[in-house]
Amino acid sequence: QDPDPGGHFQFRVIVLGDAAVGKSSLLRCFAEGPGGGPGGAATPGPTVGVEFYSRTVPVPPAGRAKLQLWDTAGQERFRSITRSFYRSAAGVLLVFDLTNRASFERVPEWHREAAGGGDPPAFVLVGHKCDLEAERAVSAEEAGHLAASLGMAFVETSARTNLNVDLAFQMLAGGIQEAL
Ligand code: GDP
Repeated sequence: QDPDPGGHFQFRVIVLGDAAVGKSSLLRCFAEGPGGGPGGAATPGPTVGVEFYSRTVPVPPAGRAKLQLWDTAGQERFRSITRSFYRSAAGVLLVFDLTNRASFERVPEWHREAAGGGDPPAFVLVGHKCDLEAERAVSAEEAGHLAASLGMAFVETSARTNLNVDLAFQMLAGGIQEAL
């Protein structure tokens, strides 16, 4: 994970979790979100089975990191492709749907799969669709406990209201830098 010519570190980040929890929406919201954020517009690039974006984020106290974002959309079908990405990912956003209890219960399995073998990447656990408060099936407290037990930070996000989306990626970038 060497600095780019601008002196920014570049990290490969993947977004994992059950189908339909909102991985693609979260990625798109971050990569193409209003304001563009530091580093400007997102850059879609060509890949097979995954989509690629990048965006530069601030990392406290004074750094910046360019995140290369890999969408594992269709990972249920492209499992072997995704597996090869586990090994090169510096960070993982592990996403579940706050209104879908089964997606929460699968978190330890996703964690095991992505953490296994070699240097484990940095993780952030993301409870997504927090705009659907009336349909919530997992409490923040419960999710926080699970995250802590697996050594992850936890944040709740919504792509619909754009709540904490940038924060989730910035937390991950911070976690990656700390682990360097
Ligand atoms: P993926 O399969 O994990 O990539 O999930 P998608 O990004 O395709 O989203 C699955 C469904 O959840 C779609 O119908 C989205 O519109 C919806 N969705 C995604 N993010 C949110 C959110 O923050 N809030 C709500 N209410 N729905 C969302």
